[in-house]
Amino acid sequence: MTDSSENVLECLIIGSGPAGLSAALYAARANLKPVVLSGMDLGGQVSKTAAVDNYPGFPEGIDGPEMVSIFQKQAERFGAEIIFDSATEVDLSERPFKVTTYGGEYLAETLIIATGAEIRQLGVPGETDFTGRGVSYCATCDGHFFQEKDLIVVGGGDSALKEGIFLTRFAKSVTIVHRRDELRAGVYLANKAKENPKIKFIWDTVVTEIIGDGTVNSVRLKNVKTDQEETRPIDGIFIYIGHIPNTDLFKDVLDTDENGYLVLDKQMHTNLPGVFAAGEVGDPHFQQVVISAGMGAAAAMEVVEFLEDEN
Ligand code: NAP
Repeated sequence: MTDSSENVLECLIIGSGPAGLSAALYAARANLKPVVLSGMDLGGQVSKTAAVDNYPGFPEGIDGPEMVSIFQKQAERFGAEIIFDSATEVDLSERPFKVTTYGGEYLAETLIIATGAEIRQLGVPGETDFTGRGVSYCATCDGHFFQEKDLIVVGGGDSALKEGIFLTRFAKSVTIVHRRDELRAGVYLANKAKENPKIKFIWDTVVTEIIGDGTVNSVRLKNVKTDQEETRPIDGIFIYIGHIPNTDLFKDVLDTDENGYLVLDKQMHTNLPGVFAAGEVGDPHFQQVVISAGMGAAAAMEVVEFLEDEN
Protein backbone atom coordinates (compact mmCIF):
# COMPACT_ATOMS: atom_id res chain seq x y z
CA MET A 1 0.00 0.00 0.00
CA THR A 2 1.26 3.50 -0.73
CA ASP A 3 0.54 6.93 0.63
CA SER A 4 3.30 8.81 -1.12
CA SER A 5 4.38 9.13 -4.73
CA GLU A 6 7.78 7.71 -3.76
CA ASN A 7 6.05 4.43 -3.27
CA VAL A 8 4.91 3.80 -6.83
CA LEU A 9 4.71 0.16 -7.89
CA GLU A 10 6.04 -0.82 -11.26
CA CYS A 11 3.24 -3.29 -11.77
CA LEU A 12 -0.05 -3.78 -9.95
CA ILE A 13 -2.16 -6.81 -10.84
CA ILE A 14 -5.85 -6.79 -10.05
CA GLY A 15 -7.17 -10.34 -9.69
CA SER A 16 -5.67 -13.64 -8.62
CA GLY A 17 -7.04 -16.26 -10.98
CA PRO A 18 -4.75 -18.14 -13.38
CA ALA A 19 -4.25 -14.94 -15.40
CA GLY A 20 -3.35 -12.76 -12.40
CA LEU A 21 -1.08 -15.32 -10.77
CA SER A 22 0.73 -16.17 -14.01
CA ALA A 23 1.20 -12.46 -14.67
CA ALA A 24 2.58 -12.17 -11.13
CA LEU A 25 5.02 -15.01 -11.75
CA TYR A 26 6.35 -13.47 -14.95
CA ALA A 27 6.46 -9.92 -13.55
CA ALA A 28 8.22 -11.15 -10.42
CA ARG A 29 10.81 -13.03 -12.45
CA ALA A 30 11.45 -9.78 -14.33
CA ASN A 31 12.14 -8.15 -10.96
CA LEU A 32 9.16 -5.81 -11.10
CA LYS A 33 8.11 -6.71 -7.54
CA PRO A 34 4.45 -7.00 -8.56
CA VAL A 35 1.64 -6.64 -6.07
CA VAL A 36 -1.48 -8.73 -6.66
CA LEU A 37 -4.84 -7.66 -5.25
CA SER A 38 -6.49 -11.04 -4.75
CA GLY A 39 -10.13 -9.94 -4.81
CA MET A 40 -12.70 -11.75 -2.68
CA ASP A 41 -11.60 -15.25 -3.72
CA LEU A 42 -7.95 -16.09 -4.17
CA GLY A 43 -7.79 -18.04 -7.40
CA GLY A 44 -11.09 -16.78 -8.79
CA GLN A 45 -13.31 -19.32 -10.51
CA VAL A 46 -10.69 -22.09 -10.44
CA SER A 47 -10.85 -22.12 -6.67
CA LYS A 48 -14.44 -23.30 -7.05
CA THR A 49 -13.75 -25.89 -9.74
CA ALA A 50 -13.84 -29.57 -8.83
CA ALA A 51 -11.06 -30.83 -11.03
CA VAL A 52 -9.03 -29.33 -13.82
CA ASP A 53 -8.28 -32.12 -16.27
CA ASN A 54 -7.03 -30.16 -19.23
CA TYR A 55 -4.08 -28.18 -17.90
CA PRO A 56 -0.83 -29.62 -19.27
CA GLY A 57 1.50 -31.04 -16.65
CA PHE A 58 -1.18 -32.68 -14.52
CA PRO A 59 -1.88 -35.99 -16.27
CA GLU A 60 -4.22 -37.15 -13.50
CA GLY A 61 -5.98 -33.77 -13.26
CA ILE A 62 -5.78 -31.48 -10.25
CA ASP A 63 -8.31 -30.01 -7.81
CA GLY A 64 -9.00 -26.33 -8.50
CA PRO A 65 -8.05 -25.08 -5.00
CA GLU A 66 -4.82 -27.11 -5.07
CA MET A 67 -3.92 -25.62 -8.44
CA VAL A 68 -4.46 -22.10 -7.05
CA SER A 69 -2.19 -22.86 -4.12
CA ILE A 70 0.56 -24.09 -6.48
CA PHE A 71 0.23 -20.99 -8.69
CA GLN A 72 0.40 -18.79 -5.59
CA LYS A 73 3.51 -20.50 -4.19
CA GLN A 74 5.32 -20.25 -7.50
CA ALA A 75 4.59 -16.52 -7.91
CA GLU A 76 5.57 -15.80 -4.29
CA ARG A 77 8.79 -17.77 -4.68
CA PHE A 78 10.00 -15.08 -7.09
CA GLY A 79 8.84 -12.17 -4.95
CA ALA A 80 5.26 -11.42 -5.94
CA GLU A 81 3.24 -10.00 -3.06
CA ILE A 82 -0.36 -11.17 -2.84
CA ILE A 83 -2.66 -8.97 -0.80
CA PHE A 84 -6.14 -10.05 0.27
CA ASP A 85 -8.00 -6.94 -0.79
CA SER A 86 -10.24 -5.78 -3.63
CA ALA A 87 -10.10 -2.73 -5.86
CA THR A 88 -13.10 -0.47 -5.33
CA GLU A 89 -12.14 2.46 -7.56
CA VAL A 90 -9.56 3.20 -10.24
CA ASP A 91 -8.26 6.49 -11.55
CA LEU A 92 -6.62 5.89 -14.92
CA SER A 93 -6.65 9.57 -15.96
CA GLU A 94 -2.89 9.94 -15.42
CA ARG A 95 0.15 7.93 -14.45
CA PRO A 96 0.92 6.61 -11.99
CA PHE A 97 -2.50 5.00 -12.01
CA LYS A 98 -4.36 5.12 -8.72
CA VAL A 99 -6.23 2.10 -7.40
CA THR A 100 -8.33 2.43 -4.26
CA THR A 101 -9.11 -0.70 -2.27
CA TYR A 102 -11.02 -1.47 0.92
CA GLY A 103 -7.69 -1.30 2.75
CA GLY A 104 -6.04 1.74 1.16
CA GLU A 105 -4.64 3.12 -2.05
CA TYR A 106 -2.01 1.93 -4.54
CA LEU A 107 -0.09 3.87 -7.16
CA ALA A 108 1.30 1.95 -10.10
CA GLU A 109 3.13 2.71 -13.32
CA THR A 110 1.41 -0.20 -15.05
CA LEU A 111 -1.71 -2.20 -14.41
CA ILE A 112 -2.67 -5.72 -15.36
CA ILE A 113 -6.40 -6.25 -15.08
CA ALA A 114 -7.20 -9.89 -14.41
CA THR A 115 -10.54 -9.52 -12.70
CA GLY A 116 -12.16 -12.48 -14.45
CA ALA A 117 -15.88 -12.95 -14.66
CA GLU A 118 -18.83 -13.54 -12.36
CA ILE A 119 -21.37 -16.31 -12.60
CA ARG A 120 -24.53 -15.43 -14.47
CA GLN A 121 -27.76 -15.87 -12.52
CA LEU A 122 -31.06 -17.12 -13.88
CA GLY A 123 -32.98 -14.19 -12.46
CA VAL A 124 -36.11 -16.22 -11.65
CA PRO A 125 -38.29 -15.99 -8.51
CA GLY A 126 -36.86 -18.00 -5.62
CA GLU A 127 -33.27 -18.00 -6.90
CA THR A 128 -31.91 -15.42 -4.47
CA ASP A 129 -34.13 -16.56 -1.56
CA PHE A 130 -32.88 -20.13 -1.77
CA THR A 131 -29.23 -19.49 -2.58
CA GLY A 132 -27.32 -21.62 -0.08
CA ARG A 133 -30.54 -23.50 0.72
CA GLY A 134 -30.74 -25.69 -2.35
CA VAL A 135 -29.63 -23.23 -5.02
CA SER A 136 -25.91 -23.39 -5.75
CA TYR A 137 -23.41 -22.21 -8.33
CA CYS A 138 -20.57 -24.37 -7.04
CA ALA A 139 -20.71 -28.16 -7.15
CA THR A 140 -17.25 -28.37 -5.57
CA CYS A 141 -18.39 -26.36 -2.58
CA ASP A 142 -21.88 -27.77 -2.09
CA GLY A 143 -22.09 -31.14 -3.86
CA HIS A 144 -21.42 -33.20 -0.74
CA PHE A 145 -24.57 -31.76 0.93
CA PHE A 146 -26.68 -33.63 -1.61
CA GLN A 147 -25.95 -37.30 -0.87
CA GLU A 148 -28.53 -39.53 -2.58
CA LYS A 149 -30.59 -36.49 -3.60
CA ASP A 150 -32.30 -35.58 -6.85
CA LEU A 151 -30.69 -32.57 -8.47
CA ILE A 152 -31.09 -30.48 -11.55
CA VAL A 153 -28.30 -28.64 -13.32
CA VAL A 154 -29.23 -25.74 -15.58
CA GLY A 155 -27.20 -25.05 -18.74
CA GLY A 156 -25.90 -26.83 -21.80
CA GLY A 157 -22.26 -25.72 -21.80
CA ASP A 158 -19.09 -27.43 -20.64
CA SER A 159 -19.52 -26.19 -17.08
CA ALA A 160 -23.02 -27.62 -16.72
CA LEU A 161 -21.91 -31.03 -17.96
CA LYS A 162 -18.60 -31.13 -16.11
CA GLU A 163 -20.13 -30.15 -12.81
CA GLY A 164 -23.19 -32.32 -13.48
CA ILE A 165 -20.90 -35.32 -13.90
CA PHE A 166 -19.08 -34.35 -10.68
CA LEU A 167 -22.41 -34.18 -8.82
CA THR A 168 -23.18 -37.82 -9.68
CA ARG A 169 -20.55 -38.74 -7.07
CA PHE A 170 -23.08 -37.71 -4.43
CA ALA A 171 -26.52 -37.43 -5.96
CA LYS A 172 -29.06 -40.14 -6.71
CA SER A 173 -29.91 -38.40 -9.99
CA VAL A 174 -28.81 -35.36 -11.96
CA THR A 175 -31.16 -33.92 -14.56
CA ILE A 176 -29.65 -31.41 -16.93
CA VAL A 177 -32.16 -28.80 -18.06
CA HIS A 178 -31.16 -27.01 -21.25
CA ARG A 179 -33.05 -24.32 -23.12
CA ARG A 180 -32.29 -25.80 -26.54
CA ASP A 181 -32.20 -29.33 -27.95
CA GLU A 182 -28.49 -29.17 -28.75
CA LEU A 183 -25.65 -28.90 -26.28
CA ARG A 184 -23.14 -26.09 -26.42
CA ALA A 185 -20.61 -28.31 -24.62
CA GLY A 186 -17.83 -30.09 -26.48
CA VAL A 187 -18.16 -33.68 -27.65
CA TYR A 188 -15.97 -35.20 -24.92
CA LEU A 189 -18.02 -33.94 -21.99
CA ALA A 190 -21.28 -34.41 -23.90
CA ASN A 191 -20.50 -38.10 -24.45
CA LYS A 192 -19.33 -38.58 -20.88
CA ALA A 193 -22.56 -37.07 -19.56
CA LYS A 194 -24.77 -39.05 -21.93
CA GLU A 195 -23.03 -42.29 -20.91
CA ASN A 196 -23.49 -41.60 -17.19
CA PRO A 197 -26.43 -43.70 -15.92
CA LYS A 198 -27.29 -41.11 -13.25
CA ILE A 199 -27.65 -38.26 -15.76
CA LYS A 200 -30.81 -37.43 -17.71
CA PHE A 201 -31.59 -34.47 -19.96
CA ILE A 202 -34.63 -32.28 -20.34
CA TRP A 203 -34.40 -30.35 -23.61
CA ASP A 204 -35.96 -27.08 -24.82
CA THR A 205 -36.82 -26.17 -21.28
CA VAL A 206 -36.22 -23.26 -18.93
CA VAL A 207 -36.62 -22.88 -15.19
CA THR A 208 -39.24 -20.23 -14.43
CA GLU A 209 -39.38 -20.48 -10.65
CA ILE A 210 -37.57 -22.13 -7.76
CA ILE A 211 -39.92 -23.22 -5.01
CA GLY A 212 -39.32 -24.37 -1.46
CA ASP A 213 -40.21 -24.31 2.16
CA GLY A 214 -37.05 -23.41 4.06
CA THR A 215 -35.05 -25.28 1.42
CA VAL A 216 -35.73 -25.97 -2.23
CA ASN A 217 -38.26 -28.73 -2.89
CA SER A 218 -39.27 -28.18 -6.51
CA VAL A 219 -38.82 -26.13 -9.66
CA ARG A 220 -41.27 -24.85 -12.19
CA LEU A 221 -40.21 -25.79 -15.72
CA LYS A 222 -41.49 -24.52 -19.05
CA ASN A 223 -40.97 -26.14 -22.43
CA VAL A 224 -40.09 -23.24 -24.75
CA LYS A 225 -41.45 -25.04 -27.83
CA THR A 226 -44.81 -26.20 -26.47
CA ASP A 227 -45.22 -23.66 -23.61
CA GLN A 228 -46.17 -26.66 -21.44
CA GLU A 229 -45.34 -26.14 -17.76
CA GLU A 230 -44.70 -28.60 -14.95
CA THR A 231 -43.63 -28.52 -11.33
CA ARG A 232 -40.82 -30.98 -10.74
CA PRO A 233 -39.85 -32.12 -7.24
CA ILE A 234 -36.11 -31.77 -6.63
CA ASP A 235 -33.72 -31.37 -3.69
CA GLY A 236 -31.26 -28.95 -5.24
CA ILE A 237 -30.49 -26.89 -8.33
CA PHE A 238 -27.03 -26.06 -9.64
CA ILE A 239 -26.88 -23.20 -12.13
CA TYR A 240 -24.18 -23.04 -14.84
CA ILE A 241 -25.34 -20.62 -17.51
CA GLY A 242 -22.16 -18.70 -18.25
CA HIS A 243 -20.45 -15.60 -16.96
CA ILE A 244 -20.46 -11.81 -16.88
CA PRO A 245 -17.03 -10.12 -17.09
CA ASN A 246 -15.94 -8.05 -14.10
CA THR A 247 -15.39 -4.77 -15.91
CA ASP A 248 -17.61 -2.37 -13.97
CA LEU A 249 -14.61 -0.48 -12.58
CA PHE A 250 -13.17 0.13 -16.03
CA LYS A 251 -16.05 0.36 -18.49
CA ASP A 252 -16.09 4.17 -18.63
CA VAL A 253 -12.39 4.41 -19.50
CA LEU A 254 -11.49 1.21 -21.29
CA ASP A 255 -12.98 -0.17 -24.48
CA THR A 256 -15.37 -3.09 -23.99
CA ASP A 257 -17.32 -5.21 -26.46
CA GLU A 258 -21.10 -5.54 -26.59
CA ASN A 259 -21.04 -8.09 -23.76
CA GLY A 260 -18.80 -6.01 -21.51
CA TYR A 261 -15.52 -7.89 -22.13
CA LEU A 262 -12.39 -5.72 -22.34
CA VAL A 263 -11.17 -5.28 -25.89
CA LEU A 264 -7.52 -6.33 -26.13
CA ASP A 265 -5.02 -6.55 -28.93
CA LYS A 266 -2.90 -9.66 -29.40
CA GLN A 267 -0.32 -8.30 -26.95
CA MET A 268 -2.90 -7.89 -24.15
CA HIS A 269 -2.93 -4.08 -24.47
CA THR A 270 -6.12 -2.25 -23.65
CA ASN A 271 -6.78 1.05 -25.40
CA LEU A 272 -4.90 2.89 -22.64
CA PRO A 273 -1.06 2.79 -22.67
CA GLY A 274 0.26 1.14 -19.53
CA VAL A 275 -2.97 -0.74 -18.85
CA PHE A 276 -2.96 -4.40 -19.85
CA ALA A 277 -5.46 -7.18 -19.22
CA ALA A 278 -5.47 -10.95 -19.21
CA GLY A 279 -7.80 -13.88 -18.68
CA GLU A 280 -11.54 -14.13 -18.88
CA VAL A 281 -12.12 -10.39 -18.37
CA GLY A 282 -10.84 -9.97 -21.93
CA ASP A 283 -11.59 -13.41 -23.34
CA PRO A 284 -15.20 -14.05 -24.32
CA HIS A 285 -14.18 -16.95 -26.53
CA PHE A 286 -11.89 -19.55 -24.94
CA GLN A 287 -12.25 -19.16 -21.16
CA GLN A 288 -9.77 -21.89 -20.35
CA VAL A 289 -7.32 -21.99 -17.45
CA VAL A 290 -4.39 -22.67 -19.75
CA ILE A 291 -5.31 -19.76 -22.01
CA SER A 292 -5.87 -17.36 -19.11
CA ALA A 293 -2.48 -18.36 -17.69
CA GLY A 294 -0.88 -17.75 -21.09
CA MET A 295 -2.57 -14.36 -21.38
CA GLY A 296 -1.27 -13.45 -17.92
CA ALA A 297 2.28 -14.37 -18.87
CA ALA A 298 1.96 -12.39 -22.11
CA ALA A 299 0.59 -9.32 -20.31
CA ALA A 300 3.50 -9.33 -17.86
CA MET A 301 6.02 -9.66 -20.70
CA GLU A 302 4.40 -6.68 -22.40
CA VAL A 303 4.61 -4.69 -19.16
CA VAL A 304 8.35 -5.37 -19.06
CA GLU A 305 8.72 -4.19 -22.64
CA PHE A 306 6.54 -1.14 -22.05
CA LEU A 307 8.61 -0.03 -19.04
CA GLU A 308 11.89 -0.71 -20.86
CA ASP A 309 10.76 1.34 -23.87
CA GLU A 310 9.95 4.24 -21.58
CA ASN A 311 13.37 4.24 -19.98
P1 NAP B 1 -21.17 -21.21 -21.79
O1 NAP B 1 -20.31 -22.03 -22.68
O2 NAP B 1 -21.42 -19.80 -22.12
O3 NAP B 1 -22.55 -21.98 -21.66
C1 NAP B 1 -23.62 -21.41 -20.99
C2 NAP B 1 -24.85 -22.31 -21.16
O4 NAP B 1 -25.91 -21.74 -20.42
C3 NAP B 1 -25.30 -22.40 -22.61
O5 NAP B 1 -25.71 -23.72 -22.89
C4 NAP B 1 -26.47 -21.42 -22.66
O6 NAP B 1 -27.47 -21.84 -23.56
C5 NAP B 1 -27.03 -21.53 -21.27
N1 NAP B 1 -27.67 -20.29 -20.84
C6 NAP B 1 -27.20 -19.02 -20.89
N2 NAP B 1 -28.07 -18.15 -20.37
C7 NAP B 1 -29.14 -18.89 -19.98
C8 NAP B 1 -30.36 -18.58 -19.36
N3 NAP B 1 -30.69 -17.32 -19.02
N4 NAP B 1 -31.22 -19.59 -19.11
C9 NAP B 1 -30.91 -20.87 -19.42
N5 NAP B 1 -29.76 -21.23 -20.01
C10 NAP B 1 -28.88 -20.25 -20.28
O7 NAP B 1 -20.61 -21.18 -20.29
P2 NAP B 1 -19.78 -22.30 -19.49
O8 NAP B 1 -20.37 -23.64 -19.65
O9 NAP B 1 -19.63 -21.74 -18.12
O10 NAP B 1 -18.37 -22.30 -20.18
C11 NAP B 1 -17.62 -21.09 -20.31
C12 NAP B 1 -16.34 -21.39 -21.07
O11 NAP B 1 -15.50 -22.22 -20.29
C13 NAP B 1 -16.57 -22.09 -22.39
O12 NAP B 1 -15.65 -21.61 -23.33
C14 NAP B 1 -16.28 -23.54 -22.06
O13 NAP B 1 -15.81 -24.28 -23.17
C15 NAP B 1 -15.20 -23.39 -21.00
N6 NAP B 1 -15.18 -24.55 -20.09
C16 NAP B 1 -14.47 -25.65 -20.44
C17 NAP B 1 -14.44 -26.76 -19.62
C18 NAP B 1 -13.66 -27.97 -19.99
O14 NAP B 1 -13.47 -28.86 -19.18
N7 NAP B 1 -13.19 -28.05 -21.22
C19 NAP B 1 -15.16 -26.77 -18.43
C20 NAP B 1 -15.90 -25.64 -18.09
C21 NAP B 1 -15.91 -24.53 -18.93
P3 NAP B 1 -27.23 -21.78 -25.15
O15 NAP B 1 -26.34 -22.95 -25.46
O16 NAP B 1 -28.59 -21.92 -25.70
O17 NAP B 1 -26.60 -20.45 -25.42
